[in-house]
Amino acid sequence: MRHNRAHMSNYLDWLLAGLALCLFSVTPAMAQSTSPEKLPHVAVLATGGTIAGTAGSETQTTGYKPGVLTADALLKSVPSLGKIAQVSGEQISNVGSENITNDILLKLAKRVNQLLAQPDIAGVVVTHGTDTLEETAYFLDLVVKSDKPVVVTGSMRPSTAISADGPSNLLQAVTVAASPEARGHGVMIVLNDRIGSARYTTKTNGTSLDTFKGNDSGYLGTLVDEVPHFETSVLKRNTTSTPFDVSKLDSLPEVDIVYGYQNDGGFMYDAAVAHGAKGIVVAGVGAGSESLLTLPSIKKAIAQGVVVVRSSRTGGGFVPEDPAYVGLLGDDLNPQKARILLMLALTTTKDPASIQAMLHEF
Ligand code: GLU
Repeated sequence: MRHNRAHMSNYLDWLLAGLALCLFSVTPAMAQSTSPEKLPHVAVLATGGTIAGTAGSETQTTGYKPGVLTADALLKSVPSLGKIAQVSGEQISNVGSENITNDILLKLAKRVNQLLAQPDIAGVVVTHGTDTLEETAYFLDLVVKSDKPVVVTGSMRPSTAISADGPSNLLQAVTVAASPEARGHGVMIVLNDRIGSARYTTKTNGTSLDTFKGNDSGYLGTLVDEVPHFETSVLKRNTTSTPFDVSKLDSLPEVDIVYGYQNDGGFMYDAAVAHGAKGIVVAGVGAGSESLLTLPSIKKAIAQGVVVVRSSRTGGGFVPEDPAYVGLLGDDLNPQKARILLMLALTTTKDPASIQAMLHEF
C-alpha cells in the first residue's frame, strides 16, 4: 500500500509538472494569438505588379493584367499575416513595374522614410512587379534613412493562378520585416524562400518562379517554416551610410541606358544627349567594352558634361580600367542598378572622381 501511495504521489508530481510545462510552453503562443496589439507593426506599401494581378483562368500565368487587387485585398488574402504582425496597407500606385516612374520612386521612398521614423513601425514591406523590382529595391537601399527592415516582394504568378506564389511571398516578406534580426541588412528582396540584398539580387528569368538570384554573391539568408535564417551580410554602404536625401528631391536627373551589340552606332548616344540625359550607362559587351563605332559619340557626350558609366550586359563580373574605352567604371552593378546609383549621385555632385568613388562603395 505504502509503495502504491508513493507511486501515486509520484504520479501526481509528474502530472503537475507536465501541466506546468504545458502552461509555460503554450502561454507565449496563446498570448500572441490573443494579444495582436503586442505584435510588431509592419506597414505594407503596394505598388502593383503580378502579386496584385488577375487572369482569366487558374492556368494563365502570362498575358494577365497586373496591378488589379488593392493593398487591402492583398492583405485580406493572407489571414496568417495577423499571427505575425499588425499589418496596415497603403496604395502607392497600382501598375505593372515597367510603368514605375521616377515620380513613383520618390513618392514611395518618402513614404517609407516617414513610416520608419514612427517609433511604432517595426518595418516596411513593398509589394511590386518583379520586372523592375530590383531597381526600386536598390533605390530604396540608397535612400532609406533607417536600420529598420525594408523588404520588397512580388510574385511570378497572378493571384488567380493555381499555386500562386504571392500569398507565401507576402507572408515571408512580412515575417522578415517584423524580425529584429533583419535590421541593418539594407533593403532586402524576399521571394521564394530566399532573402536577397537589394544590391546584388537580380531577376534572371522572365517566367520561372526561381528567378531572383544573387549571382556571384548569393543570398543573405533563407526562410524555413516562416523562420528567417540570416547567413551573410553585404559590405557595400547603404541606407543610413549614403549621402542621398530624397526629402529634398522633386525629380531625378535623366539617366539613360544604351545597349552594346555588334555593328552598333553612336546615334543612340547622340539621341540620349539631345533628349537631355545628364548621365548615360553603357550596357557594354563583355566587361563593359565600347565599339569603335560608338566611341566618338560617347566622347562627345562626356565633353558636353554628360557622365558616362560603363557596365556589362553579361549579367556578372566587374568592369576593369581599360585605356581603350571611356567613362567611369560601374563596379559589378548591372546596367539598371548603375542607372539608379548614377541618378542619385548626380543629385549630389557632377565631379567624376566623387561619382566613381560612389560606384565602388555603394
Ligand atoms: N510586368 C509586370 C510587372 O513587372 C508583371 C511581372 C511581375 O510582376 O512578375 O509588374
